[in-house]
Amino acid sequence: MTRRASYSGHVTFMRRPAATDFSAADVVVAGLPFDVATTNAPGARFGPRAIRAQSLQLAWGPIWPWGFDPFQRLTVVDAGDIEWDWGRPRGMAAAATAHTREVLASGARPLTLGGDHYATLPLLRAVAERHGPVALIHFDAHRDTEPGGGEGRLDHGIVFAEALRERLIVEEASVQIGIRTCYDGEAGAGMTVIDAAAAHAMTPERVAERIRAVVDGRPCYLTFDIDCLDPAFAPGTGTPVPGGLSSHQARAILWGLKGMPIVGADVMEVSPPLDPSGITALAAAMLAVDVCCLWAAGA
Ligand code: MN
Ligand code: MN
Repeated sequence: MTRRASYSGHVTFMRRPAATDFSAADVVVAGLPFDVATTNAPGARFGPRAIRAQSLQLAWGPIWPWGFDPFQRLTVVDAGDIEWDWGRPRGMAAAATAHTREVLASGARPLTLGGDHYATLPLLRAVAERHGPVALIHFDAHRDTEPGGGEGRLDHGIVFAEALRERLIVEEASVQIGIRTCYDGEAGAGMTVIDAAAAHAMTPERVAERIRAVVDGRPCYLTFDIDCLDPAFAPGTGTPVPGGLSSHQARAILWGLKGMPIVGADVMEVSPPLDPSGITALAAAMLAVDVCCLWAAGA
Protein backbone atom coordinates (compact mmCIF):
# COMPACT_ATOMS: atom_id res chain seq x y z
CA MET A 1 0.00 0.00 0.00
CA THR A 2 1.05 3.61 -0.31
CA ARG A 3 1.06 6.73 1.79
CA ARG A 4 -0.61 8.70 -0.99
CA ALA A 5 -3.38 10.98 0.26
CA SER A 6 -6.64 9.03 0.22
CA TYR A 7 -8.37 11.70 -1.89
CA SER A 8 -5.64 11.72 -4.54
CA GLY A 9 -4.40 9.59 -7.39
CA HIS A 10 -5.92 6.87 -9.57
CA VAL A 11 -8.99 5.09 -8.22
CA THR A 12 -8.60 1.31 -8.06
CA PHE A 13 -9.72 -1.03 -5.31
CA MET A 14 -7.27 -0.53 -2.41
CA ARG A 15 -4.80 1.02 -4.90
CA ARG A 16 -4.16 -2.37 -6.46
CA PRO A 17 -2.67 -2.26 -9.95
CA ALA A 18 -5.06 -2.18 -12.89
CA ALA A 19 -4.48 -5.35 -14.91
CA THR A 20 -6.07 -7.42 -17.62
CA ASP A 21 -3.44 -10.16 -17.40
CA PHE A 22 -4.39 -12.36 -14.45
CA SER A 23 -1.58 -14.90 -14.72
CA ALA A 24 0.30 -13.63 -11.66
CA ALA A 25 -2.78 -12.73 -9.62
CA ASP A 26 -4.12 -14.45 -6.52
CA VAL A 27 -7.29 -12.34 -6.50
CA VAL A 28 -8.96 -10.41 -9.34
CA VAL A 29 -11.28 -7.58 -8.35
CA ALA A 30 -13.85 -6.52 -10.96
CA GLY A 31 -16.82 -4.20 -11.00
CA LEU A 32 -20.19 -5.35 -12.31
CA PRO A 33 -22.16 -2.13 -12.92
CA PHE A 34 -25.60 -3.61 -13.54
CA ASP A 35 -28.86 -2.49 -11.93
CA VAL A 36 -31.78 -3.25 -14.22
CA ALA A 37 -33.00 -6.25 -12.17
CA THR A 38 -33.83 -4.39 -8.99
CA THR A 39 -37.39 -4.49 -7.62
CA ASN A 40 -37.13 -0.99 -6.16
CA ALA A 41 -34.61 1.85 -6.41
CA PRO A 42 -31.85 1.56 -9.01
CA GLY A 43 -28.36 3.06 -8.73
CA ALA A 44 -26.18 0.00 -8.04
CA ARG A 45 -24.55 0.47 -11.46
CA PHE A 46 -22.53 3.18 -9.70
CA GLY A 47 -21.59 0.83 -6.85
CA PRO A 48 -18.21 -0.46 -8.07
CA ARG A 49 -16.83 3.03 -8.61
CA ALA A 50 -18.00 4.23 -5.18
CA ILE A 51 -16.61 1.16 -3.39
CA ARG A 52 -13.24 1.70 -5.08
CA ALA A 53 -13.24 5.38 -4.08
CA GLN A 54 -14.09 4.63 -0.44
CA SER A 55 -11.51 1.84 -0.31
CA LEU A 56 -8.76 4.43 -0.73
CA GLN A 57 -9.19 5.62 2.83
CA LEU A 58 -8.69 2.05 4.07
CA ALA A 59 -5.48 1.59 2.04
CA TRP A 60 -2.98 2.58 4.70
CA GLY A 61 -1.20 -0.63 5.64
CA PRO A 62 -2.15 -3.35 8.14
CA ILE A 63 -5.86 -4.05 8.56
CA TRP A 64 -7.34 -4.15 12.04
CA PRO A 65 -7.83 -6.62 13.72
CA TRP A 66 -5.91 -8.87 11.35
CA GLY A 67 -2.64 -7.08 12.07
CA PHE A 68 -1.23 -7.52 8.56
CA ASP A 69 -1.44 -5.97 5.11
CA PRO A 70 -3.16 -8.64 2.97
CA PHE A 71 -1.62 -7.14 -0.17
CA GLN A 72 1.87 -7.98 1.03
CA ARG A 73 0.79 -11.64 1.07
CA LEU A 74 -1.41 -11.78 -2.02
CA THR A 75 -1.20 -10.31 -5.50
CA VAL A 76 -4.54 -8.58 -5.94
CA VAL A 77 -5.29 -6.77 -9.21
CA ASP A 78 -8.20 -4.58 -10.29
CA ALA A 79 -9.52 -5.65 -13.68
CA GLY A 80 -11.83 -2.65 -14.01
CA ASP A 81 -15.47 -3.23 -14.86
CA ILE A 82 -17.05 -6.09 -16.77
CA GLU A 83 -18.59 -4.58 -19.90
CA TRP A 84 -21.49 -5.33 -22.24
CA ASP A 85 -23.85 -3.38 -24.50
CA TRP A 86 -26.06 -1.35 -22.10
CA GLY A 87 -28.84 -1.51 -24.66
CA ARG A 88 -28.86 -5.30 -24.36
CA PRO A 89 -28.92 -5.88 -20.61
CA ARG A 90 -29.18 -9.66 -20.98
CA GLY A 91 -25.68 -9.49 -22.43
CA MET A 92 -24.39 -8.85 -18.90
CA ALA A 93 -24.72 -12.52 -18.00
CA ALA A 94 -22.46 -13.85 -20.76
CA ALA A 95 -19.88 -11.13 -20.10
CA ALA A 96 -19.83 -11.80 -16.35
CA THR A 97 -19.55 -15.57 -16.80
CA ALA A 98 -16.76 -15.19 -19.38
CA HIS A 99 -14.79 -12.83 -17.15
CA THR A 100 -15.12 -15.08 -14.10
CA ARG A 101 -14.23 -18.15 -16.15
CA GLU A 102 -11.01 -16.42 -17.23
CA VAL A 103 -10.15 -15.45 -13.64
CA LEU A 104 -10.68 -18.98 -12.36
CA ALA A 105 -8.76 -20.52 -15.28
CA SER A 106 -5.76 -18.38 -14.34
CA GLY A 107 -5.84 -19.85 -10.83
CA ALA A 108 -7.01 -16.62 -9.18
CA ARG A 109 -10.11 -16.00 -7.09
CA PRO A 110 -12.78 -13.58 -8.29
CA LEU A 111 -13.86 -10.74 -5.97
CA THR A 112 -16.68 -8.89 -7.70
CA LEU A 113 -18.25 -5.56 -6.73
CA GLY A 114 -21.87 -5.00 -7.79
CA GLY A 115 -24.24 -4.20 -9.11
CA ASP A 116 -27.64 -5.60 -8.14
CA HIS A 117 -27.83 -9.14 -6.81
CA TYR A 118 -29.12 -10.71 -10.02
CA ALA A 119 -25.55 -10.35 -11.31
CA THR A 120 -24.34 -13.03 -8.87
CA LEU A 121 -26.08 -15.68 -11.01
CA PRO A 122 -23.66 -15.56 -13.99
CA LEU A 123 -20.71 -15.44 -11.56
CA LEU A 124 -21.96 -18.67 -9.96
CA ARG A 125 -22.26 -20.27 -13.40
CA ALA A 126 -18.51 -19.87 -13.94
CA VAL A 127 -17.72 -20.96 -10.37
CA ALA A 128 -19.80 -24.14 -10.70
CA GLU A 129 -18.26 -24.88 -14.08
CA ARG A 130 -14.86 -24.88 -12.38
CA HIS A 131 -15.63 -26.39 -8.98
CA GLY A 132 -18.97 -28.15 -9.41
CA PRO A 133 -21.93 -27.05 -7.30
CA VAL A 134 -20.65 -25.01 -4.34
CA ALA A 135 -21.92 -24.22 -0.87
CA LEU A 136 -23.35 -20.70 -0.69
CA ILE A 137 -22.66 -18.32 2.21
CA HIS A 138 -25.25 -15.63 1.61
CA PHE A 139 -25.62 -12.42 3.66
CA ASP A 140 -28.85 -10.57 2.88
CA ALA A 141 -32.10 -9.15 4.23
CA HIS A 142 -33.82 -11.23 1.53
CA ARG A 143 -33.62 -14.89 0.61
CA ASP A 144 -33.75 -14.09 -3.12
CA THR A 145 -35.47 -17.43 -3.76
CA GLU A 146 -38.74 -16.08 -5.18
CA PRO A 147 -40.44 -18.15 -7.89
CA GLY A 148 -41.08 -16.78 -11.35
CA GLY A 149 -37.68 -17.15 -12.94
CA GLY A 150 -36.75 -18.89 -16.16
CA GLU A 151 -36.43 -17.58 -19.71
CA GLY A 152 -33.88 -15.01 -18.68
CA ARG A 153 -36.16 -12.97 -16.41
CA LEU A 154 -34.14 -10.15 -14.84
CA ASP A 155 -35.09 -9.95 -11.14
CA HIS A 156 -32.72 -9.80 -8.20
CA GLY A 157 -35.29 -11.57 -6.04
CA ILE A 158 -35.03 -14.87 -7.93
CA VAL A 159 -31.27 -15.27 -8.13
CA PHE A 160 -30.80 -18.21 -5.75
CA ALA A 161 -33.95 -20.01 -6.89
CA GLU A 162 -32.33 -19.92 -10.32
CA ALA A 163 -28.94 -21.01 -8.94
CA LEU A 164 -30.65 -24.02 -7.32
CA ARG A 165 -32.60 -24.82 -10.49
CA GLU A 166 -29.36 -24.75 -12.50
CA ARG A 167 -27.61 -26.84 -9.81
CA LEU A 168 -24.92 -24.23 -9.25
CA ILE A 169 -25.16 -24.47 -5.45
CA VAL A 170 -25.64 -27.30 -2.98
CA GLU A 171 -28.92 -26.61 -1.20
CA GLU A 172 -28.23 -28.44 2.07
CA ALA A 173 -24.72 -26.93 2.34
CA SER A 174 -25.93 -23.35 1.85
CA VAL A 175 -26.69 -20.81 4.54
CA GLN A 176 -28.42 -17.42 4.50
CA ILE A 177 -27.66 -14.88 7.22
CA GLY A 178 -29.58 -11.75 8.23
CA ILE A 179 -32.89 -12.58 6.55
CA ARG A 180 -35.84 -10.41 7.68
CA THR A 181 -38.44 -10.76 4.94
CA CYS A 182 -40.99 -13.48 4.17
CA TYR A 183 -40.76 -15.62 1.06
CA ASP A 184 -43.10 -17.33 -1.36
CA GLY A 185 -42.53 -20.68 -2.95
CA GLU A 186 -40.65 -23.84 -2.24
CA ALA A 187 -37.18 -23.00 -3.54
CA GLY A 188 -34.41 -23.16 -1.01
CA ALA A 189 -36.41 -24.98 1.68
CA GLY A 190 -33.33 -27.08 2.38
CA MET A 191 -31.05 -24.10 2.97
CA THR A 192 -30.15 -23.08 6.50
CA VAL A 193 -31.51 -19.65 7.43
CA ILE A 194 -29.98 -17.69 10.30
CA ASP A 195 -32.49 -14.87 10.24
CA ALA A 196 -31.80 -11.42 11.64
CA ALA A 197 -33.41 -12.20 15.01
CA ALA A 198 -31.32 -15.35 15.37
CA ALA A 199 -28.15 -13.52 14.37
CA HIS A 200 -28.88 -10.82 16.95
CA ALA A 201 -29.42 -13.46 19.64
CA MET A 202 -26.11 -15.20 18.86
CA THR A 203 -22.54 -13.99 19.11
CA PRO A 204 -20.83 -13.46 15.74
CA GLU A 205 -18.46 -16.29 16.68
CA ARG A 206 -21.41 -18.65 17.13
CA VAL A 207 -22.91 -17.59 13.77
CA ALA A 208 -19.57 -18.33 12.11
CA GLU A 209 -19.44 -21.77 13.77
CA ARG A 210 -22.91 -22.51 12.47
CA ILE A 211 -21.90 -21.45 8.92
CA ARG A 212 -18.83 -23.66 9.12
CA ALA A 213 -20.94 -26.64 10.22
CA VAL A 214 -23.44 -26.22 7.35
CA VAL A 215 -20.75 -25.80 4.68
CA ASP A 216 -18.90 -28.78 6.14
CA GLY A 217 -15.62 -28.29 4.29
CA ARG A 218 -17.08 -27.94 0.80
CA PRO A 219 -15.82 -25.33 -1.66
CA CYS A 220 -17.96 -22.30 -0.96
CA TYR A 221 -18.90 -18.97 -2.54
CA LEU A 222 -19.52 -15.93 -0.37
CA THR A 223 -22.08 -13.37 -1.55
CA PHE A 224 -22.76 -10.25 0.51
CA ASP A 225 -25.86 -8.19 -0.31
CA ILE A 226 -25.10 -4.94 1.52
CA ASP A 227 -28.76 -4.74 2.65
CA CYS A 228 -27.90 -7.48 5.16
CA LEU A 229 -26.62 -4.54 7.19
CA ASP A 230 -29.14 -2.34 8.95
CA PRO A 231 -30.07 0.84 7.02
CA ALA A 232 -28.35 2.75 9.85
CA PHE A 233 -25.07 1.28 8.61
CA ALA A 234 -25.91 0.87 4.93
CA PRO A 235 -28.63 3.31 3.83
CA GLY A 236 -27.39 3.36 0.26
CA THR A 237 -29.14 0.36 -1.19
CA GLY A 238 -32.26 -0.14 -3.30
CA THR A 239 -34.31 -2.35 -0.97
CA PRO A 240 -33.37 -1.49 2.65
CA VAL A 241 -35.05 -3.32 5.55
CA PRO A 242 -34.77 -2.13 9.18
CA GLY A 243 -33.47 -4.50 11.86
CA GLY A 244 -30.31 -5.73 10.20
CA LEU A 245 -26.78 -6.49 11.26
CA SER A 246 -24.29 -3.87 12.33
CA SER A 247 -21.04 -3.40 10.46
CA HIS A 248 -19.25 -4.94 13.42
CA GLN A 249 -21.48 -8.01 13.55
CA ALA A 250 -20.96 -8.71 9.86
CA ARG A 251 -17.21 -8.19 10.03
CA ALA A 252 -16.87 -10.37 13.12
CA ILE A 253 -18.81 -13.18 11.40
CA LEU A 254 -16.37 -12.98 8.47
CA TRP A 255 -13.40 -13.08 10.86
CA GLY A 256 -14.78 -16.38 12.14
CA LEU A 257 -14.62 -18.02 8.67
CA LYS A 258 -10.83 -18.31 8.65
CA GLY A 259 -9.56 -21.40 6.86
CA MET A 260 -12.77 -22.11 4.93
CA PRO A 261 -12.32 -22.95 1.20
CA ILE A 262 -13.90 -19.77 -0.21
CA VAL A 263 -13.43 -19.99 -3.99
CA GLY A 264 -14.88 -16.58 -4.85
CA ALA A 265 -16.83 -13.71 -3.35
CA ASP A 266 -18.89 -10.66 -4.20
CA VAL A 267 -20.32 -7.58 -2.48
CA MET A 268 -23.51 -6.38 -4.13
CA GLU A 269 -26.33 -3.82 -4.06
CA VAL A 270 -24.45 -0.64 -3.07
CA SER A 271 -26.40 2.25 -4.60
CA PRO A 272 -24.37 5.49 -4.37
CA PRO A 273 -27.24 7.86 -5.33
CA LEU A 274 -28.89 6.75 -2.06
CA ASP A 275 -25.62 7.01 -0.11
CA PRO A 276 -24.77 10.71 0.21
CA SER A 277 -22.17 10.24 2.97
CA GLY A 278 -20.54 7.24 1.30
CA ILE A 279 -20.86 5.04 4.42
CA THR A 280 -22.53 2.20 2.54
CA ALA A 281 -19.73 2.03 -0.01
CA LEU A 282 -17.22 2.29 2.83
CA ALA A 283 -18.83 -0.66 4.64
CA ALA A 284 -18.77 -2.64 1.38
CA ALA A 285 -15.09 -1.82 0.85
CA MET A 286 -14.30 -2.92 4.41
CA LEU A 287 -16.12 -6.23 3.96
CA ALA A 288 -14.26 -6.84 0.67
CA VAL A 289 -10.99 -6.13 2.45
CA ASP A 290 -11.94 -8.60 5.19
CA VAL A 291 -12.46 -11.22 2.47
CA CYS A 292 -8.97 -10.46 1.15
CA CYS A 293 -7.64 -10.86 4.70
CA LEU A 294 -9.41 -14.23 5.00
CA TRP A 295 -7.65 -15.36 1.83
CA ALA A 296 -4.34 -13.88 2.96
CA ALA A 297 -4.73 -15.76 6.25
CA GLY A 298 -4.94 -19.02 4.33
CA ALA A 299 -8.60 -19.55 3.44
MN1 MN B 1 -29.99 -9.98 -2.46
MN1 MN C 1 -31.33 -7.89 -0.25
